[in-house]
Amino acid sequence: MVGQYDENLLSDMLPIYYAKLFPQNVFCRWLSCGNYPQPLGNRELSFTLSDDVYLRYLSINNQKELQTLFQKKCPYKLDIGAVYNTKPSIGRHDSIILARELVFDIDLTDYDEVRTCCKEAKVCGKCWKFMVIACEIIHTALRDDFGFQNILWVFSGRRGIHCWVSDHEARTLDSPGRSAIADYMCLITGGENQNKKVNLGNDNLHSSIRRAINIIEKYFKELLEDQEFLSTTERLSTFLKIIPDETLRHQIEKVLDKMPTSSLQRWESFVDIYNNYCKENVTAIRKMKHLIEEIMIQYCYPRLDINVTKGFNHLLKSPFSIHPKTGKVSIVFKPEFARDIKLDEVPTIYTLLDDASPENAQHQTNMRTAVKNFQEVVFSLEKTEALRRKKYGGNSMEF
Ligand SMILES: [Zn+2]
Repeated sequence: MVGQYDENLLSDMLPIYYAKLFPQNVFCRWLSCGNYPQPLGNRELSFTLSDDVYLRYLSINNQKELQTLFQKKCPYKLDIGAVYNTKPSIGRHDSIILARELVFDIDLTDYDEVRTCCKEAKVCGKCWKFMVIACEIIHTALRDDFGFQNILWVFSGRRGIHCWVSDHEARTLDSPGRSAIADYMCLITGGENQNKKVNLGNDNLHSSIRRAINIIEKYFKELLEDQEFLSTTERLSTFLKIIPDETLRHQIEKVLDKMPTSSLQRWESFVDIYNNYCKENVTAIRKMKHLIEEIMIQYCYPRLDINVTKGFNHLLKSPFSIHPKTGKVSIVFKPEFARDIKLDEVPTIYTLLDDASPENAQHQTNMRTAVKNFQEVVFSLEKTEALRRKKYGGNSMEF
């Protein structure tokens, strides 16, 4: 019950949380990535303090220094930046970024044009399903299309998820490489004024798009029912604007308008009308061969903040930091269990540090699971790094 706690308690609670619950050791090991290409001390951390003072270019050489820095500054927010060729410093304008995880940031506020259950900062179990789809699509693409293995998934603490790819090839990827991956993942284009935001052309679909559609299909009916994409006049009108063929659009409008408001039934009717129309109009099918898929993507495909992925020095919230507004811990989760996350079971600093809280035991367990998930990714990363160094000789330890 976050409501019964007071944000003012944070300044007393955070030092205890950092000392007792924050997985400092694994955190330092994760950030140092086997000390290559540079040691931990060259990694930038940034803190936001209680009075909104923002400290950049902080760094630590080991866990002990992290603990000291936590106790001294008591950050309300903890962000992670890039690895430089020198110790990060505000005064050094000649420092060069050498490495940085490839990161993805997905936030439910970017879904406000399609989600109908909540708006802005609010989030519930229904709209969380958009995150489940995003996680599955991105994770599969990173693993199967790019061969990445060391992928960390983190709940942002409020209404989104972050993905960190720590494979050496990902960390040392240059800007054009990052942009290419971001663009490859990005299928939804155009701002508010663009009605049809997905265009898949007329050729057979690329296997990665087909795979993404298969993932969306698993959830699509559920989402139609949860979100009622087509149930009101306004939503139906938005939907109809996506259909490029005027004759078809009118046919659909006429039928759907007279139907019960159930989005699932309306969708099924739409699919029937579309299929019949295409059977009778050879030119129509050529113009909108993948219309069904395009609409499903427009409603459900991940909406990425691609500037975060493209950028080298974009600071991103650290795993296990506390969201100052919700008190929630940015837990690490396994992508295959994204679906099982219940937002009110995400541990908060308040419930973790309050033995009398009814959620205490459950949240302690969930916190331990999150730390274990983190350890698994970090151990696997260290193993991959050790193998890579063995393969390419001992020169990787030069600083
Ligand atoms: Zn919701």
